Formats: sequence, C-alpha cells, structure tokens
Amino acid sequence: MQETALWQAVLGEIELSISRGNFVTWFKHTQLIKCKDDLAVIGVPNIFVKNQLEKKFNELVVKVLAKNGAQPKKVEYKIHTGIVPTQRHGEPSGANNHAASSRAVPANQLSIKSRIADVTHSYRQGLNERYTFENFVVGAGNELAYAACQAIAQKPGTKYNPLFIYGGVGIGKTHLIQALGNAISTGRNGGKVIYASTEQFVQEFVDAIRFKKNASSFAGFYRGADVLIVDDVQFLAGKEKIQEEFFHTFNALYQANKQIIMSSDKPPKDIPTLEERLRSRFAWGMTIDMQNPDFETRCAILHSKSSSLSFDLSNEVVEFLATRVQSNIRELEGALNQVIAFCEMRKIEPSLQAVSTMFDSGRSRPKHINARQIIERTAKHFHISLEEILGPKRDKDIVVPRQIAMYMLRSELHLSFPKIAHELGRKDHTTAIHSVDKIEKELSYDGTIKQNVNELKERLYA
Ligand code: ADP
Ligand code: MG
Repeated sequence: MQETALWQAVLGEIELSISRGNFVTWFKHTQLIKCKDDLAVIGVPNIFVKNQLEKKFNELVVKVLAKNGAQPKKVEYKIHTGIVPTQRHGEPSGANNHAASSRAVPANQLSIKSRIADVTHSYRQGLNERYTFENFVVGAGNELAYAACQAIAQKPGTKYNPLFIYGGVGIGKTHLIQALGNAISTGRNGGKVIYASTEQFVQEFVDAIRFKKNASSFAGFYRGADVLIVDDVQFLAGKEKIQEEFFHTFNALYQANKQIIMSSDKPPKDIPTLEERLRSRFAWGMTIDMQNPDFETRCAILHSKSSSLSFDLSNEVVEFLATRVQSNIRELEGALNQVIAFCEMRKIEPSLQAVSTMFDSGRSRPKHINARQIIERTAKHFHISLEEILGPKRDKDIVVPRQIAMYMLRSELHLSFPKIAHELGRKDHTTAIHSVDKIEKELSYDGTIKQNVNELKERLYA
C-alpha cells in the first residue's frame, strides 16, 4: 500500500514537469511494485515504455522518488502484465487528465490524492503556461481575434459570448485561446477555466459512458466552468451523441452567463454534419476569421521568437525566412528551429548565405528514400512490427510511432495527406492531417518526441 501512495505522489509531480503527451504515453500504466532494500521496481506495460523510461526518464524518476523520501540505489523497470488500465473514480476532475484521473486511489490515501489534485490543478485544466498574451505577436490576420480575447479577459461572460475563432492550421488559434484562459485563471477575478481539446471532450464522454457511474460527473465537471474553452470543435463533426452532450453543456453554461470560447479550422456553417441547433448557437455571439499572418507579422514573430531564444538574426535573414515560409506560423517556427540547430551544430553564424544554403540543400536531400522505407524504419526504431504500425491497433505505443511515421512522410517526402493516409493503410486523410499536426506541435515542447524524430532523420540519411 505504501508503494501505491508513494507512486501517486511521484506521478503527481512528474505529471507537472513533463508534457501531457509524454506523461500519458510513458507513465500512464506504470506502477511501483516494490521499493525497499535499496531497490525500486517499477512495473511497465511493455518493452517500448521500459526502454524509454530507462533511457530518457530514469533521472527524473530517481529525482522525484528522492524528493518523496525514497532513495533506492537502483531503479528497475519491469514489464508487468498485471497492469490493467484502471477506471476513473467519481470525483470531477480536469479536462485532459485521463492519465491522472484513471489512477484509482483507495480511500485512505485521499489526502495524498487531494494534495496532488491541488498541485495539478492548472495542469488539469489543460492550460499550458507557455502560451501568453505577452508572447503573442499581434498583426494583420489576428488582431481582431486578439482584441476580442482581450475584451473577454477583462470581463468574461459579458461580451462576445460565445466566441468562435476559426482559421487554418498553425496560425495561432490554440495559442490565443490558451493565453486567454491563462489570463483569466491568473487574473484578479479568477474563475474556473476549463480548457479541453474536442478530442479530450470526446474521449472523456466515451469513458463516461463506458464506466456508467461517471457519466454525471463528466457532465457536472464541464458545467461547473466559469469559462469553457474548447479547441478544434470541427472534430465534433459526425459524432451525434457527443454533439448532443455538448449542446446541453453549452446551454447550461450560456444560460448561466458563463463564457464559452471555441476554435475550429472552419466556420460553423462549413463543419459537416454539425447539428443545426449547434451550428446556430455557435454563431450566436462573435465569429472571427483568423488569417495567415502577412509578411510584416511573420517578420515580427521571427524577431520575437529568436530573441526569446537569445539567438540573434539579422533583418535580411528574418526577411529571407518570412519570404520562404508563408504557410503558417508553426512552419515558420519550425524553420527558425532548423536554422538554430543547423548553426549551432556547425558553430557558424546565421548569415544569409548559410541560411539559404541550408534551405536549398535541405530540399534536395530526401529524394532517394521512399515512403515504405520511412515507415519500416520508424517501426524498427520503436521496436514494433510493420504489421502493427500499418494495422488497426490503437495502443499508445503503436499510435505514437504511427503518427511519427505520418509526420516523417510529410516532412521528408512532402506527400499529400491522402497519400500519407494511404501509405499507412488508413482510409481517412483527416487522421493524417491530425497526426502530422500533433507531432509538429509536440516537437516544439516534447523532448522525447523531438529526440526520436531527430534520431530517425539522422539514420535515414546516414
Ligand atoms: P493553431 O491552433 O491555429 O493550429 P497554434 O496556436 O498551435 O496554431 O500555433 C502554432 C505555433 O505558432 C505555436 O507554437 C504558437 O505559439 C505560434 N504562434 C502562432 N501565432 C503566433 C503569434 N501571433 N505570435 C507568436 N507565436 C505564435
Ligand atoms: Mg490548435
């Protein structure tokens, strides 16, 4: 029993110090089997998790164990098939905390549990402190959305309710609505802010139905928000039951003058198979179209990001990059990161000459590799079989490599999304869009994903 309590506390802290993606992937189904006589044994679900924990997270585990009073000389990770995904317990908790809330906690450990709940509070709302108004560059394309969010931050629930922001991928929707959530939750008026991606909402709903007794706590949780932020509502398309649940949540909050903010990649009228009653409600308040940033804004963003990384870029290099990458800000950030890595690895200054050479050589590089080779190498890298990566299994340790393979096909071969989906044996190309998008995002904050992708790329061209 002591082990369970200790591990709960350790997980609570680890959850705060790494990204959600990493936490869910690597720590969700772990258990402390034993911790005495200088030895700690941690049960893990499979070899993939074992390898990653040993290689990438061991130091963190040791550190957090020590912080909680356990200082084993050795930590072993053991594949332990007895670990079953535990059910959610009844207490309403965060929007994106399947991992945290799925750890069943005996009643006598409630104090530890509530302590964890306290510290993970803002994490559980799904807000990421990285996104702030301060580091959001305002310019043509996003100024209207920014102004609306500022107004809401002053007095949530009074103006622009609901706020519906739409626009293409990578142009700053998530950043802006997260910044708004952060501003409100840390602001003077406080208020309970719940941020959830539509995927999380859907997943929680599905779980709530599966474990029937939790259905009411699911509904109660979302309806308890003062400010509800739901990202990427286009994913509600085609999900009737969930639309109905969302409809009731929406109504309850709206009637209580609570603020609702949504983002989507298209306007309500263009979301296919969205119930009419939701469609019309989404448009009740303010609908804002966010656009690709113009040249000046792209330059300003590059200046801001490079200086926050203490990496000086001349105007000509900034202009070169802003001209070269026009699609969206995520790609612009990606290009900047590439430049930084390129220059740091070679210990050279980012001159226009160096940067343009890098771009030109980078583009001709991948020609001799085909899609199948990329998929095979990705599978091999993660110690899974080709059948698994191409197959239907939805286990985390297969899904993540599959998403990385999709990302690699996009970044290395510039394949179209339908083609990527086809290569991976998927029918629906939105899966490919979503996977690539997800990995691109995670690359910016998730060290493990980044390292894996870098290793893969290095080997690809070795
Ligand atoms: P979306 O949700 O529209 O797909 P994101 O909000 O995830 O896009 O933005 C992609 C990346 O670009 C993020 O890292 C974000 O911080 C950054 N970004 C987007 N817009 C801006 C901006 N105006 N200023 C600074 N960074 C931005
Ligand atoms: Mg987004």
